[in-house]
Amino acid sequence: LTQGLHRSLQRHPEKTALCHLAPAGERTWTFAEFADAVARRAAALRGRGIARGDRVAILAPNDDAIVITMMACWWIGAVACPMNIRWSVHELRHAIADCGAPLLLVDPGCAGVAAALADIVATAETGALAAEARALAPLEDLRCGGDTLAVILYTGGTTGRSKGVMLSHVNLWSASMTRGAELNNAPDSVSLLVAPLFHVAGLGRLIGQSIVGGSCITLPQFRGDAVLAAIERHRISDIMVVPTMLQALLDAPGFTPERVRSLTRIAFGAAPMPPDLLDRALAAWPQAEFFQAYGLTETAGAVCINLPANHRPGAGAPERLRSVGRAGLGAEIRIVDERGDECPRGAVGELIVAGPMVTRGYWNLPDTSAEAIRDGWLHTGDGARMDADGYIFIVDRLKDMIISGGENVYSAEVEAALRSHPSVAEAAVIGVPDARWGESVHAVVVLHAGAGADQAALFDELGAWCRTRLAGYKCPRSLHVAEALPLSAAGKVLKTALRAGHASRAA
Ligand code: ATP
Repeated sequence: LTQGLHRSLQRHPEKTALCHLAPAGERTWTFAEFADAVARRAAALRGRGIARGDRVAILAPNDDAIVITMMACWWIGAVACPMNIRWSVHELRHAIADCGAPLLLVDPGCAGVAAALADIVATAETGALAAEARALAPLEDLRCGGDTLAVILYTGGTTGRSKGVMLSHVNLWSASMTRGAELNNAPDSVSLLVAPLFHVAGLGRLIGQSIVGGSCITLPQFRGDAVLAAIERHRISDIMVVPTMLQALLDAPGFTPERVRSLTRIAFGAAPMPPDLLDRALAAWPQAEFFQAYGLTETAGAVCINLPANHRPGAGAPERLRSVGRAGLGAEIRIVDERGDECPRGAVGELIVAGPMVTRGYWNLPDTSAEAIRDGWLHTGDGARMDADGYIFIVDRLKDMIISGGENVYSAEVEAALRSHPSVAEAAVIGVPDARWGESVHAVVVLHAGAGADQAALFDELGAWCRTRLAGYKCPRSLHVAEALPLSAAGKVLKTALRAGHASRAA
């Protein structure tokens, strides 16, 4: 993963590699400065006893320190374990103990949390490591082989307890190739790294940019107004967003299409894209190329990509706008039934994937790994169908699918119907226990300001709205109006939290 850096050093050492937008001002690194910092930071890690194969836990928002530290880990064959900055001490304790890191590097803003972990791991602030590094001679890159473990990424926990996904250099490299081949990543691109680097969507973008020699701009937190200002000021050309981020950007005060005109490549994915939101984004950026990406932490990034041609108004097959695209280069995808047999085209089954980007498994969880990866095929737990031309449509996570009266209800479809109502800003649908139907459809909605003062009337109205769009068994039987939906750090709706909230209200 360090190879792109050496290539950039030969080609354009004085070009901007990285710029961090800190509240106190910007910090910019040319490729020459960046490579020097990585080689010295590697020496500082070595000085702290980190050797090949050791895990290094990192707790920091997206900034230049985390980027340099991860690259320094790869320089010496260590395994970077970036932790979710929104986790509680309890969750961090689990992950740090699980990966067995002897060292935790923290941003000064996370120092309080680090102090609470001092009994299980040695901690140091990223700034202290940088200061040590400046006094040391740069280390030679070990140029680790492709099978070397590069990161352990803890999954979002959307579906349960977080697991450490092991990704090797080759896994991450292949995923970048799959994406890069389709996304036209270019050396002249300026990419805003705002999706957290402790998730694969953010990390993959960093690696992709470093391989092609493009520039990265880091922003610690996704706030619509800050992203808007960064795009305008730094002439950002590329961004990877999850749907909630796109919505925050479009809703940012002062948003106008002129201010974001530089953005010409917009990749989105990691969660279902609400159709109304995509339509809004397409209208806001008529000049941009849109890519939908589908992938998992376990595949080191995107394995399906829907190309810009399918996002153009008037494109040949309008239903393709709602597809996650076809299997990307190097990825093989099948849709299978419970017995593992391939489903006929158009039938819903589980999406399974094979290829060089697929993880070798979960850290410390051999049984879970063997269950998820069978004969080289990763079982994603996603329900999907494939059309005659190989286009793939994700219908739901199989765990989120609701079975009501023996009928399958895909939550994404019901959510899209609810969101199309003018009063509804956001919607999430879960299955709740029902004595008669097994499960029934329960909706949680967030309303636009001023809408829905009379909840009984709202429920009737939304019920009627859904009945004109969906079969009766798919329509919500109950509804809860919330202030906001619970989101993971990656911006995904936490359905486990919604289920727990519903159970406690019902109790
Ligand atoms: P956990 O694995 O702990 O439940 P998580 O689901 O957030 O957490 P990730 O690996 O970040 O873990 O997410 C992968 C999942 O995200 C996929 O299995 C799929 O359900 C969903 N996903 C990814 N891309 C898309 C997309 N373009 N459209 C719909 N869903 C997507």
